[in-house]
Amino acid sequence: TYGAGFAARWMAATAEAVEREAGRLTELDAAIGDADHGANLRRGFAAVADALAKEPPATPGAVLVTAGRLLISTVGGASGPLYGTLLRRAGKALGEAGEVTRTELADALAAGVAAVGQLGGAVAGDKTMLDALEPAVAGLRESFAAARAAARDGALATVPLRARKGRAAYLGERSVGHEDPGAASSALLFDALEEVAA
Ligand code: ADP
Ligand code: MG
Ligand code: MG
Repeated sequence: TYGAGFAARWMAATAEAVEREAGRLTELDAAIGDADHGANLRRGFAAVADALAKEPPATPGAVLVTAGRLLISTVGGASGPLYGTLLRRAGKALGEAGEVTRTELADALAAGVAAVGQLGGAVAGDKTMLDALEPAVAGLRESFAAARAAARDGALATVPLRARKGRAAYLGERSVGHEDPGAASSALLFDALEEVAA
């Protein structure tokens, strides 16, 4: 089972991955958006890692709720409220449990992904973060490694898609041929999860 320390390490590992990959995320966003995705997430996850290190919450649910709240308040772009909603909703779904199973984490994240869909009005295939998040959460029912692989595949599968939500949708046909930045960053979230679970 997985506790508050595990959840905090997951968020810290995500902050490191985002820091390392910020340049690539911003390049992807330069192609079909406004070139700020790396900077947006770097600011957000740095704030999350800082807060969790200073005042570690007692349960995995509280860790994710805190992380989500901070992403919403520190990230200006669309991705802040969306990732914030993902983690806050998942954290709420975990409730007060001190330790959770991988399956419970998958159930909670599935609720978070559904909330992201509701907030942003996107569905799978619209070339958004959901194209990585949905398969990743399905894969998590099998293993952390399966979640990671599914997120990567889902992100790469956005390349030939035409964006129907977010800034990239304004480009229409010209959004084809580029990986969606939010799907790429979602893959980092599941890279980090497998890393800390190993
Ligand atoms: P902004 O577009 O405001 O500059 P970011 O660049 O940080 O915000 O994030 C862009 C990413 O957010 C996109 O690549 C996409 O994955 C995701 N996104 C944007 N709008 C939506 C939406 N309505 N539903 C789901 N994801 C979305
Ligand atoms: Mg952007
Ligand atoms: Mg922006």
